[in-house]
Amino acid sequence: MAVTSTSNSLATSLVLLHSPFQSHLHLHLHLQRRRTNPFIPIRTRANPISSLTQQDVRKEDIVVVGAGIAGLATALCLHRGYEFLGVLLLLTRLGVSSAVLEQGESLRTSGTSLTLFKNGWRVLDEMGVGDKLRSQFVEIQGMVIKAEDGKELRSFKFKDESEGQEVRAVERSVLLETLANELPSDAISFSSKLANIERTGTGETLLELGDGTQLLAKIVIGCDGIRSPIAKWMGFSEPQYVGHCAFRGLGFYPDGQPFEPKVNYVYGRGLRAGYVPVSPTKVYWFICFNSPSPGPKITDASMLKKQACELVRSWPSELLDIIDKTPDDTIIRTPLVDRWLWPITSPSAASGGVVLVGDAWHPMTPNLGQGACCALEDAVILAGKLAGSLQTAGLPESIYSALKSYETERWGRVFPLTIRANVVGSLLQWENPIICAVRNNVIVPKVVRLGPLLEHTNYICEPLG
Ligand SMILES: Cc1cc2nc3c(=O)[nH]c(=O)nc-3n(C[C@H](O)[C@H](O)[C@H](O)COP(=O)(O)OP(=O)(O)OC[C@H]3O[C@@H](n4cnc5c(N)ncnc54)[C@H](O)[C@@H]3O)c2cc1C
Repeated sequence: MAVTSTSNSLATSLVLLHSPFQSHLHLHLHLQRRRTNPFIPIRTRANPISSLTQQDVRKEDIVVVGAGIAGLATALCLHRGYEFLGVLLLLTRLGVSSAVLEQGESLRTSGTSLTLFKNGWRVLDEMGVGDKLRSQFVEIQGMVIKAEDGKELRSFKFKDESEGQEVRAVERSVLLETLANELPSDAISFSSKLANIERTGTGETLLELGDGTQLLAKIVIGCDGIRSPIAKWMGFSEPQYVGHCAFRGLGFYPDGQPFEPKVNYVYGRGLRAGYVPVSPTKVYWFICFNSPSPGPKITDASMLKKQACELVRSWPSELLDIIDKTPDDTIIRTPLVDRWLWPITSPSAASGGVVLVGDAWHPMTPNLGQGACCALEDAVILAGKLAGSLQTAGLPESIYSALKSYETERWGRVFPLTIRANVVGSLLQWENPIICAVRNNVIVPKVVRLGPLLEHTNYICEPLG
């Protein structure tokens, strides 16, 4: 991605014509974009004819980059927030338009599942989609930890250990579709890859897509994932490889899967695996293994399956059975990475009208199952802050301070979790035989308490309205 700090002539001319954050933005919640080319400027009250002097530039109040969990959840929270404020907005003639840009041709349909804990479910309820998802996915009652030979080391019931806990593994594709279906039908522009970003002289941001289309945005929300081009532009370093990789897949049992609703973990040396029922016909599994380097990217599913099976050949046989029943398009191998957001040295996640959400800002290892849960929390908190500032003033300064306030609130949540997830992962990937024996014979059976390990799921976000 090209990084440009000065405005080009096009942006300058636009800025001269169009002062940002005019005191009253006009109500425009449902964009009337043309289906064939969503980037043809349209006439709306937010985009009056007088401002359409540049043929190829689309103006938006808010642009969300990336239609993953963070992007869709943020767009939906903004939409819900403004729905809630609807009467007020009409009264004050205050409103915003927002658009989601996604580089892919469609929502990601492949992939496996994510385990969501009660903090994630609270946000999904806040967005109004919790029950739609609950009806499709099994509630997981507890957790069993086993040794490599299948011997049970310990078992827990979630509700005994953590009050009101709710755990379900949710198919990623279903979660994405569910969020997207709640948005106006034209809210997401697919095949829209952000290629260049630059700040204009007056604080707006000019975005250029791969096909040359330009957008001028008052607020840009970077939800562009772990390799976020926007984070890079804001000065963030690449996420760091943590020394282990994960195989993941979704076993398919067309006649019904036979497992109890529990998370099953198997702890080995420098190697661990797990599986959990997702729905009446699907079971998610993973294998985490130590590796000095991330290794080459492998897309051949049969090769991935073979490598995964090799790792757990002598382990409890149900694991091999689930791997065997995994369709090719759901098996993946991912090097695990994170980024620690040290105070002072880490760049700001909110700079002018640009802000980061989800993995784009705080990639964390999956050892606590909190990456997506935190992206959902980010979304509801950011939307709440933005709605509040637009409601009271809508001036650039109040928007910028809302973004800063989001960053401050969320940093205190995501930085410790990133470290904790990393430490938990390192402990679970121990290779030393003596330490592993102590873990399996003393720590897991007699010392570990699940409640404190799930304490972070008690986090409550302020509701949208
Ligand atoms: C092995 C593993 C297991 C995990 N398990 C769990 C779990 O159990 N529970 C949990 O809560 N979390 C889990 N996570 C974490 C979770 O997957 C992530 O935190 C979550 O997917 C982040 O969502 P996101 O929207 O921020 O990023 P992404 O899902 O990566 O979405 C980013 C989107 O931006 C788009 N994009 C990127 N660049 C551009 C561009 N230039 N222009 C336009 N669009 C662009 C991408 O196409 C993509 O659609 C796990 C992660 C891993 C690796």
